Amino acid sequence: MKVLIATDKPFAKVAVEGIRTVVEGAGFELALLEKYTEKKQLLEAVAQVDAVIIRSDIIDAEVLEAAKSLKIVVRAGAGFDNVDLEAATKKGVCVMNTPGQNANAVAELAIGMMIYAIRNQYNGTSGTELKGKKLGIHACGNVGQNVARIATGFGMDIYGYDAYCSKEVMEKFNIKPLSSVAELYSTCDIVSLHIPATAETKNSINAAVVGLMPKGGVLVNTARKEVIDEVSLISLMEERPDLRYVTDIMPAAHATFLAKFPDRYFSTPKKMGAQTAEANINAGIAAARQIVDFLVNGNETFRVNK
Ligand code: NAD
Repeated sequence: MKVLIATDKPFAKVAVEGIRTVVEGAGFELALLEKYTEKKQLLEAVAQVDAVIIRSDIIDAEVLEAAKSLKIVVRAGAGFDNVDLEAATKKGVCVMNTPGQNANAVAELAIGMMIYAIRNQYNGTSGTELKGKKLGIHACGNVGQNVARIATGFGMDIYGYDAYCSKEVMEKFNIKPLSSVAELYSTCDIVSLHIPATAETKNSINAAVVGLMPKGGVLVNTARKEVIDEVSLISLMEERPDLRYVTDIMPAAHATFLAKFPDRYFSTPKKMGAQTAEANINAGIAAARQIVDFLVNGNETFRVNK
């Protein structure tokens, strides 16, 4: 059996070595395609492999077609919107993610971005503090729960809305459950977004929602850019000079946001949430273990295409 690591943005070296230990320890072969510049290279690399580990790399119908022996793709990370699930299911390929493995890294970044925003981008002027502020966690999955854990230490008053997570789980993380998106945004000084990009959530964060926030509201996005209705958010920020937006996923309209709101908008240059050595190692090794367990024992616990 052959396992390919196909990463446009490579894993940390130590993560690759960890993956190699797991894969070779199971008696499989490991192949590596890093920093590829053309899709053709990916199409060639997948041709004879049984399993692929990816990060934000695109696995579409064409890649799946080229991968004649492929049995499993594991996205080392949480979001799997870069894989064509339908095409994979049609080809009988199992797709998995590695939930939770990078959640602390993303949560720490979200908290850092909140502080950056409320300390006025460290511009030398007087800002505010997290302590005592109302924090809204929009989706209380792995990242949201970690944000709540850290925010508890900061003395924040924590609220949450999640369409599927139980109240009991939310309360375990010190999150007061609210019953609607509107209630969350109208209650909270800072809202941290942790919804996945789905048909239901795409473009759902718009002026009608963010406009409910109290004066001085801060929206922090470490989730996905597709969930934001950018045109609507730009109009709202023009009308409401008190609102701030900080994001780890550069908007399509980055240049417009930056030109219009230089003191109230910030985007990381590249998605950085999971860019830590720890998250790389955790997610990469989890991916390798899941592949071995799937190929050897048929374990499909983390399958996302049913
Ligand atoms: P998760 O699957 O653990 O949690 C997602 C939560 O969203 C679940 O609790 C689910 O019930 C909830 N949810 C789904 N649809 C919803 C809806 N319509 N309304 C409200 N809640 C809804 O995922 P996670 O690991 O916590 O990741 C959260 C987000 O962060 C995802 O968008 C993921 O892609 C993104 N992410 C970004 C980075 C980064 O580098 N910035 C890294 C990891 C994850």
